[in-house]
Amino acid sequence: MNRPNPARPDIQLMSGYTPGEQPDASRPIIKLNTNENPFPPPKAVLEAIVAAATESLRLYPEPSSRPIREAAARAYNLKPEQIIAGNGSDDILTMILRTFVSSGQIVTAPCPTYSLYETLTKIQGGIFQQTPWPDDLSLPIAALLKTKAQVIFIVRPNAPTGHMVALADISELCRKTSGVVVLDEAYVDFADDNGLALLKEHDNLIITRTMSKSLALAGLRVGLGFTTPALANEMHKVRDSYNINRLAQAGAVAALNNLAAFRPGIAAIRSQRLRLSQELGKKGFTVQESQANFVLATVPNNGLTGEEWLNALREKGFLIRFFGSDPSLQDKIRITIGTKDEMDGFLNAVDELL
Ligand SMILES: *Cc1c(COP(=O)(O)O)cnc(C)c1O
Repeated sequence: MNRPNPARPDIQLMSGYTPGEQPDASRPIIKLNTNENPFPPPKAVLEAIVAAATESLRLYPEPSSRPIREAAARAYNLKPEQIIAGNGSDDILTMILRTFVSSGQIVTAPCPTYSLYETLTKIQGGIFQQTPWPDDLSLPIAALLKTKAQVIFIVRPNAPTGHMVALADISELCRKTSGVVVLDEAYVDFADDNGLALLKEHDNLIITRTMSKSLALAGLRVGLGFTTPALANEMHKVRDSYNINRLAQAGAVAALNNLAAFRPGIAAIRSQRLRLSQELGKKGFTVQESQANFVLATVPNNGLTGEEWLNALREKGFLIRFFGSDPSLQDKIRITIGTKDEMDGFLNAVDELL
C-alpha cells in the first residue's frame, strides 16, 4: 500500500522535542543531565500519595486541581483564582500556546532558551522567532518587541545559561508589549529573588513554576501557573479535563504544605553550585555564573570538544547535557548540580580526562 502520510504537513516537517536521556536503571550512572533534584522529597509527600492511592482511585480527581491551587495560594500569598495547575509545567506551557496563539502568530524568546517553546509553538501552528541574547546577556527588550510577538517567553534564571535578567526589565517588557509575557521560573527556588511581586503590576504576565526541580518531584508531573484571574479563567478552558491525577494532587499538596523541608537540600545544591563553578574554573573551563541547579561550562579550547566531553564522561559513569542542535552551544556542556559525593566523583572524572 502506498498511502500518503496523513499527518499535518507542518507536523511532518518538525522534528519534535528531544528530552534529556533517561538511562535504564541496570547501568550505574550518575544523572547530571536533566536538572533533577538529588535529594528525595520529604516523607509527608509519599505518605499523602499512599493515602490517596488507598482511599480514592475509584473516583475522578478534582478537575481544576482546587486542592493544589488552594495550597499554592497559601504558600505564595496569591488567590486560588490566580493559579492554574498542570501535568508538569510543560502542560502549562501547552495551555499558554493553546490559549493565546492562533495559527500564523509569532512567539519569541531570548535564545538560547528552553527548546520546548519552539516545539509547542509549531504544534500550535505558530511561528517561533528566535531573538538572540546580546553579549552581556541582558534582556533584549527592543529586539523582542520588534518581533510583534503574541507571546514572549523568558526563563529566569535562564536555561541553559543559568543567568538572571533584571526584574525591572521584565516589567518594562510587560508595559511595552501588547502580547503576553511568560516568566518561566522553573529554577527560581535556587535563585536570590523571584518575580512574584510583578503580578500585582501587570495584567499580561504569567509566571510558571514546576515541582520537578527544587521540589524533587519530576516523576509526579506537577507545574503551576500564576497570573490574573481573567487569564487563568481563559486557560482553564483549554486544559485537559482531568489534567492532574489524584496521586499527583495529593503529593503536590503535601509538598506545598511542607516547603520548609526542602530548604536544606536547596541550600546544599547552592553551595555545591558555587564549588563546582570554582573548581571547573581552576581546570580551564569558563563557567557562566548560575542562579539555577546547573552550570553551563565552556570547555577548555585545547582539548576535547563539547560532544567528546559528553561521551568521555558517560564512559566514566556521568551523564551530562550537550546541546548538539544549537550552533552557539557546541563548545559548552551543562552539568546538573548533585550531592557533594556526586560532585567529588564528577570532578575526579574531569581530572582524569584533562
Ligand atoms: C524543567 C523545565 C520545565 C518543565 O518542567 P516540568 O514541570 O517537569 O514539565 C519548564 N521550563 C524550564 C525552563 C525547565 O527547565
